[in-house]
Amino acid sequence: MRTIVQKFGGTSLATAERREMVAQKVKAAVGQGYRPVVVVSAMGRAGDPYATDTLLRLAAEAFPDASPRDLDLVASCGEVISAVVLAQTLRRHGLEVAVLTGGQAGIITDANHSRANILRVEADRLLAHLKAGRVVVVTGFQGVTETGDITTLGRGGSDTTAAAIGVALKAEVVEIYTDVDGVKTADPQLVPEARTLELMAHYELAQMAAVGARVIHPAAVELAMRHNLPMRIKSTFDDSPGTLIITQLEDPLRWPPYYSGRVVAAVTHMPQVTQLVVNTPEGDPDNRHAIAVFQTLADANISVDLINVSPTQKAFTVPEEVADRAEKALISRGYRPQVTSGCAKVTVVGMGMRGVPGVMARVVRALTEAGAPVLQTADSHVTISALVPHAHLGPAVRALHRYFGLDQPATAGRTAEPATGAGAEGREQTPAARSAVAGGGSKAGGASQPAAREGR
Ligand code: ASP
Ligand code: MG
Repeated sequence: MRTIVQKFGGTSLATAERREMVAQKVKAAVGQGYRPVVVVSAMGRAGDPYATDTLLRLAAEAFPDASPRDLDLVASCGEVISAVVLAQTLRRHGLEVAVLTGGQAGIITDANHSRANILRVEADRLLAHLKAGRVVVVTGFQGVTETGDITTLGRGGSDTTAAAIGVALKAEVVEIYTDVDGVKTADPQLVPEARTLELMAHYELAQMAAVGARVIHPAAVELAMRHNLPMRIKSTFDDSPGTLIITQLEDPLRWPPYYSGRVVAAVTHMPQVTQLVVNTPEGDPDNRHAIAVFQTLADANISVDLINVSPTQKAFTVPEEVADRAEKALISRGYRPQVTSGCAKVTVVGMGMRGVPGVMARVVRALTEAGAPVLQTADSHVTISALVPHAHLGPAVRALHRYFGLDQPATAGRTAEPATGAGAEGREQTPAARSAVAGGGSKAGGASQPAAREGR
């Protein structure tokens, strides 16, 4: 049995006309021989009558002292309504359909209401319907505890439902349908020439989701990554192939050469962060100050990011809305943080940057060319992030996008060609670095490691 999970977001389900388009996608899958499980979000966005935001606002206004358990009952209704409405649309198209809530579909969670974790999926009932030839519509975003209480999985959690069911059924692919045609190389609002990625790694997408790109719930990607489950992010409203997400970036049998050497897949950004820098006295072998600073923030339940610790300085960022609280908490412990508000974090993400010299050099040059002061940086083996003043966000993202050649179409045929034209100085390294990695990667590339020539 070829199973597929098709998840549709709130905008895809908002109107009867759009639900017709959803039906076409489901019918197409059936036509290709798949048994689809259709996972739905609540219909529409804030303000629409049955959207999650609307239900949560109703709850906050009408019964402000409701228990987390009761709030989850209310929140879960959006997907229930959506599932039944879509099922009717599908039936009108001649499909035989079963509707299951998360609990009925066997999604068992812990009792952490409003952000429950999926413990397991008991898929017997799902499987029985599929075997009987039914399309199964499952409410996203919710499950049930061992004792039968309805829980929700956190905002955006329908993606997680889709991934969990995909894993449980060993689906061929999980399709995440949305209102954009895939994962972009950058936010098109900042970078008009941003392209849709054809192919990327789960790990890249997980990093992007973690640093601000809101295309998919990070937990869903991580789940799919752990189980090597392919995903495709695509539009409900056209027939474009979208972005395929798989795990083995380095597998030359599955990837065109371009991808195995693609240094950077995308540039992402997170606006509205505030930088705090705490100067601490020298000579602190026990890290007393580092411990005190970060424990203060922990006690205030504030999560920190972009952390740099040196003997005399503790620098980090916090979301803008908690910056005041963070500052006051530190002052109450006798520290005098330097506060820079109105910052944005820009991040380049790419599996291909591992072990490739010259990536940081290019980042700094791009940001300098964009006139963006670099307040702080941080990196992982597949990301480099820089903190810049918000006023420089657009130019910074555009410069990084251009410097890493992301405005160029990603076809294998292009890999040997040097980039030409304006901005080529920064771009010329990209094809070269690709072949360097494809040819064995890292510093072992020696003279054929063109990115190493970058260090001017
Ligand atoms: N409806 C839920 C939310 O808005 C879950 C989802 O859409 O994924 O967060
Ligand atoms: Mg979503």
